[in-house]
Amino acid sequence: MNMTDNTEFDPQTRFEQDYEPEFWKKKTLEQMTPTEWELLCDGCGKCCLNKIEIKGKIRFTNARCRFLDCQNCLCGIYEHRFEFVDDCRSIDSAAVRDKPRWLPKTCAYWLLDNGYDLPDWHPLITGRAASMHEAGQSLQNRPLISETEVKNYENHLVDWPDL
Ligand code: SF4
Ligand code: SF4
Repeated sequence: MNMTDNTEFDPQTRFEQDYEPEFWKKKTLEQMTPTEWELLCDGCGKCCLNKIEIKGKIRFTNARCRFLDCQNCLCGIYEHRFEFVDDCRSIDSAAVRDKPRWLPKTCAYWLLDNGYDLPDWHPLITGRAASMHEAGQSLQNRPLISETEVKNYENHLVDWPDL
């Protein structure tokens, strides 16, 4: 298995690409370039938590995908994620509009698509790739467990306000 070594990836380099200033205020999700789309992701990692549906509502657990690095919140197999994780989903417009909602409330795609602004801690606002960590808005330093250790997901439900 040729895993991506995410320790070599510097997220700050994402901002060196070409993109229209404040594109998120001017474009719909469908109008964004691939680079702009990728930049919208704040890298919080919260979509990589396991979830279960209970009574028509998605409930998050503190069980992370086994490939999520809980310190930098990056996927350890990003280039190969769909080969190795059956239920890993690509984030596209359809995923953003899925009902019931399974992306966290802070997810930039969901916020913009529902008429909200980006939060002031978003890396596109601050210009710093780590600003969601600094603001406590990522999974960094949260009490997580690897999905490989979970016997019953119902014992791991969490109600964090940003989910
Ligand atoms: S929840 Fe949204 S912003 Fe956070 S990592 Fe997933 S796609 Fe990116
Ligand atoms: S494989 Fe998918 S769910 Fe797992 S860490 Fe990577 S992006 Fe997240």
